[in-house]
Amino acid sequence: MPPGLEHLVRLQAVDLRLIDLRDRLVQFPTRITEVNARVEVARGQVATAREAHVASLRDRKKYEIDVEQWKERARKYKNQSFDVKTNEAYRALQHEIQNAEGEIGRAEDRLLERMVSGEEYERQVKAAERALAETEAAATAERRELEAEQASTEKELEAAEAERAEAAAGVPEDLLQQYHHVARRHNGIGVAEIFKQSCSQCGVMIRPQVIQAMGREETQEIFHCETCTRILHLPKTFGGAASAAAGGAPNTEV
Ligand SMILES: [Zn+2]
Repeated sequence: MPPGLEHLVRLQAVDLRLIDLRDRLVQFPTRITEVNARVEVARGQVATAREAHVASLRDRKKYEIDVEQWKERARKYKNQSFDVKTNEAYRALQHEIQNAEGEIGRAEDRLLERMVSGEEYERQVKAAERALAETEAAATAERRELEAEQASTEKELEAAEAERAEAAAGVPEDLLQQYHHVARRHNGIGVAEIFKQSCSQCGVMIRPQVIQAMGREETQEIFHCETCTRILHLPKTFGGAASAAAGGAPNTEV
């Protein structure tokens, strides 16, 4: 194998891991925002329930005043009816008293309705408060988990970056440049191993002469896939079948 290719294969593996680690790290703020948004929704539901309850109490107060006012009016007409001189005036007052009593009944019905629905609003406030408490507790636990996960991902990233520097140090500068050039155009994948006589990345067949040349211990040449231009790498397992046939154990290391 040409000098540096082994390190390059290792570098490629670390780079893929780095892409994944950085992707995950980028997502943490969004994940925390989602957790916070759930708490905000629950908080909004408590506020809405409380407003509805307050409005219902306000209505109740208003209907209580209505009942009192109509009762007061009815009392006034009854008192006046003792002093009237004519039948006509008496009948008119009787009519007013009946009307006021009807209004008292209706106002009392409305009040009762409000008192019943007021209890329902109170229940809704309590339910919303309970839901908020549960959401907050869950959010606190989730945030803690996310923070722990983020810290360990950052540590993994740090370790992977150190590993990358070490692998890169073993790759000659021009090979490293070729790798960067190809990887940039192919989503970070600049090295392709040969699998079933083909480029594992683009699937095109590799000429047998190339595979033969690559399989030779003394080979110093770097080969590229003719289609996708990735740097080719012949895994040790490739010759496994042959070495197994020759009595050697297949090497499963990639
Ligand atoms: Zn290819």
